[in-house]
Amino acid sequence: MTEERQEIDRFRRTDRVTGLPNADEMRARGKERLLKAQEVGAGTVVLHVQIDRFSRINEAYTAAVGDQLLGQVAARIQGAVRGVDYVARGGSYHFVVVAAAPNAKVIGAQITSAIRMVMVEPFDLGNASGADTASVIDKVRLTCSFGLAWCPKDGDDFDQLMHKSGLALQAVIDKGGDACLDFGWEVTRRRDHSQSLVLEAQLREAVETQQLTLYYQPQVSLVDETVIGAEALVRWKHPERGIISPDEFIPIAEETQLIIPMGDWILDEACRQASEWRASGLPDLTMSVNLSPIQFRQPDLVARVRQALERHGLQGVDLELEITESVVINDVDNVAVTVNAIRSLGVSLAMDDFGTGYSALSYLTRLPFQKLKIDQSFIRDPNGNNWPIVRAVIQLARELGMQTIAEGVESREHASQLAGLGCDIGQGYLYSKPLPAADFVEWLVEQSRSSVQPQRFLVNEMS
Ligand code: C2E
Ligand code: MG
Ligand code: MG
Repeated sequence: MTEERQEIDRFRRTDRVTGLPNADEMRARGKERLLKAQEVGAGTVVLHVQIDRFSRINEAYTAAVGDQLLGQVAARIQGAVRGVDYVARGGSYHFVVVAAAPNAKVIGAQITSAIRMVMVEPFDLGNASGADTASVIDKVRLTCSFGLAWCPKDGDDFDQLMHKSGLALQAVIDKGGDACLDFGWEVTRRRDHSQSLVLEAQLREAVETQQLTLYYQPQVSLVDETVIGAEALVRWKHPERGIISPDEFIPIAEETQLIIPMGDWILDEACRQASEWRASGLPDLTMSVNLSPIQFRQPDLVARVRQALERHGLQGVDLELEITESVVINDVDNVAVTVNAIRSLGVSLAMDDFGTGYSALSYLTRLPFQKLKIDQSFIRDPNGNNWPIVRAVIQLARELGMQTIAEGVESREHASQLAGLGCDIGQGYLYSKPLPAADFVEWLVEQSRSSVQPQRFLVNEMS
């Protein structure tokens, strides 16, 4: 191709205002990326990002100001995603991000959170707003709405994923914007707008009337097969629908800030249960509790944790908090302050779903985490393509003085392989699914009885 043709071709594919690929180009490249990810068994998330009420900018100022702002937003979005992710201008005020990762759901959540963070700082209208208005308002704050769909959950065709993430975006816009929704239960039912409001109201009631309950999943040492801890996992006992999984209601709780009272209850209940088990003579287990990024950003988080420990007579070492990489990204310095304060209580910290997101490894050296939880998508990979990564993560953790927990251990074969690689702890259906408290105790007792039968937990012997 001649240089001139190349230039024309580039011009044809690029959006003039933002310098990003345009919508046509995005469709072609998006399909390619999805196929490539499918070839290596990875997931792909398609994310629509729309600037809320952007038309008011064009109305209040000039189209030139609007264009200049769009350029700034595009640059911030580009700066928030990983270098390997694809960002395009999808329409007037909206952008599309296509990202591949072993766990598409997690990377979708992390990208959303990273974009929300870079949008917080006001945008400079500069001189473009004109001399008169500039003195009144020269900075604007913008928020975005997000719609997500991902492969494999929502389909394996790019157009289908675009359509579904578009529907999710529309649902967010209908509810007033500045939120995020993935295509799923909430979206398919959104045709009845009141339905999602009903769910919100029900969730609010659920927190108040104790419809929430905690299940516990054991964490087992891969070295000597002893049970060393339990992860508390929340469930919603819905009066009509039965047990609802946290994947369905935690996003709504986060969207509505209900995660704050809910998170307080979870922390308190997990501590109460740990204390009750201790008092009844069960072996000492570390209780692991998941923290949402929103909880983590609460200014009084450390005081809440200290109070929960004190209320139930627990030591800091009895508790572990799990947070995901999206918490630390972009804000390592502030996070370090909170993490160090939590550490000073004696509470340990685990990095949950490690390897699915940014994996900006440099932060690990700056934050005193005790454990890395290797995401289950790496462990469950049927072709074993991810094992070199698992091995590298275990080595890295060791060098940094951290322990590793493998999530989603479903087979003895995986457990023995992990033990052979030096992974410290396993968690997964091989040992037990998450169980209600009473069943967990039964499982523990059964476990200790059968530990005289060596075939029960011969994880290491197989390595
Ligand atoms: P997570 O913290 O990574 O929890 C592990 C999830 O993997 C749990 O799903 C667990 O049931 C599931 N799991 C464990 N072993 C296996 C296995 O061998 N195979 C398979 N296929 N799955 C396994 P669950 O309980 O549905 O929780 C999903 C997510 O919801 C959690 O992921 C966590 O991000 C969130 N979550 C759960 N409880 C809480 C909570 O109390 N607070 C907050 N903020 N988030 C929570
Ligand atoms: Mg967890
Ligand atoms: Mg996890």
